[in-house]
Amino acid sequence: MSYDYDLFTIGAGSGGVRAARIAALTGAKVAIAEEFRAGGTCVIRGCVPKKFMVYASEFQKSFKDAEGFGYSIPEVKYDHKAFITSLGAEVDRLSGIYARNLNNAGVDLIHERAEIVDAHTVKLVKSGKTVTAERILIAVGGTPFVPDDFEGAEHCITSNEIFDIEDLPKSIVIGGGGYIAVEFAHIFAGLGVETHLVYRSETVLRGFDDDVRTAVHEGMAAAGIHVVTSAVFSKISKTPDASHNYCVELSNGHSVEADVVVGAFGRKPYTDGLGLENAGVQLNKNGAIKVDEWSKTNVPSIWAVGDVTDRVNLTPVAIREGHAFADTEFGGKPHHFDHDKIATAVFTQPPVGTVGLSEEQARSEHGEIDIYKAQFKPMKNALSGDQNRVLMKIVVRASDQRVLGCHIVGPDAPEIIQAVGIAVKMNATKQDFDNTCALHPSLAEELVTMRNKFVPEIT
Ligand code: NDP
Repeated sequence: MSYDYDLFTIGAGSGGVRAARIAALTGAKVAIAEEFRAGGTCVIRGCVPKKFMVYASEFQKSFKDAEGFGYSIPEVKYDHKAFITSLGAEVDRLSGIYARNLNNAGVDLIHERAEIVDAHTVKLVKSGKTVTAERILIAVGGTPFVPDDFEGAEHCITSNEIFDIEDLPKSIVIGGGGYIAVEFAHIFAGLGVETHLVYRSETVLRGFDDDVRTAVHEGMAAAGIHVVTSAVFSKISKTPDASHNYCVELSNGHSVEADVVVGAFGRKPYTDGLGLENAGVQLNKNGAIKVDEWSKTNVPSIWAVGDVTDRVNLTPVAIREGHAFADTEFGGKPHHFDHDKIATAVFTQPPVGTVGLSEEQARSEHGEIDIYKAQFKPMKNALSGDQNRVLMKIVVRASDQRVLGCHIVGPDAPEIIQAVGIAVKMNATKQDFDNTCALHPSLAEELVTMRNKFVPEIT
């Protein structure tokens, strides 16, 4: 049986592009379809523009910190439109590079939506063409989810639209307490926007180590973010004649007024309307595509990588899954990606860097554990006046002293944790950390100088 392509990839985001490119470089005939822009969520409306917004937002604090070092800063003006224009140009440039790299590898980039017709056929929606392929890879990612159980939910924007705000609002309300909510709360607060965050539980960042959660929660208050806990949106109404655009009524009986309302309630796999049922591709209960460790679905000719599989929803993970798929199926180098001990960051201000198990997870999975913990004022803050303290925590298995997790909240935590991730992934022990000579003066030296186990105070 002959097919139009050896591989047809749906979705030109991080995972899809990597898989398509690597497969094509082995000589396979490859096409990739993208309904929006090459680059996917990470490049177009996720990690990349978000990080630029973090940089933009951090300057305000840097100017203030500088005063502690003898600088007098004249009145600072910020032009959000100018920043958004520069940001848009950079995103365009990066998207162009993605398209060019695909082209250079010999991949046919098809700028339209593709849907599954059967196990070897996709339909191109705009042109109406059908295309056959020996293998199909689904890499369509996820999409923001906004619950519709409150009136006026349609007034919420999501992370899809947040980068398009041209006029900096005076005030903003963000619903949710995950990565996106806390990162954007800091971004807007840093830019001088009156920022409210409304979270349904007690402490943000569920799933992270409890000390990290507490540090981030306290850091938000220190940054001037108004955090409302144990509450959800119950109604959003337009208030065109008021000084703010919207009134957000909360389940606790209070209300908040703001110019922009953001829903950061999580993301769901973008499988709606993809035609997966036509090929009999199985989903799990979250609507994610079920795959094995080789990213293979229950249909022998169809694979899926990235957020659409809802394993670990991070860009570098999608890239590694896509690469492993292409190496295995086209490169004659079978391997699969190991999802254990992936370092990750939350770009709050200060940011979080974390790898491995939280104290709670380690205790439940490994029994007796030792905790090493330090909370201290970073050197720079002695002069800048910044009151934030750094948290460093190492979670160690008592039986063999293996480091199971490391958690940092403080300046440069993402940069530090990437390197610590190597040691943790190599199953380093606490002794290996201790054998490493400190680099002085640095924040990270604390990781190799913590000698005393943390003993909780008994109250
Ligand atoms: P998350 O799943 O991290 O957080 C969703 C938040 O919304 C949680 O606080 C959750 O509360 C709350 N929530 C969910 N449903 C409701 C509801 N019906 N009413 C009120 N609150 C609700 O999603 P995000 O949107 O923040 O991020 C999506 C994904 O994007 C992340 O999982 C991450 O993988 C990725 N990402 C990664 C980043 C990074 O690496 N730095 C940055 C941004 C995104 P509760 O905690 O109680 O469940």
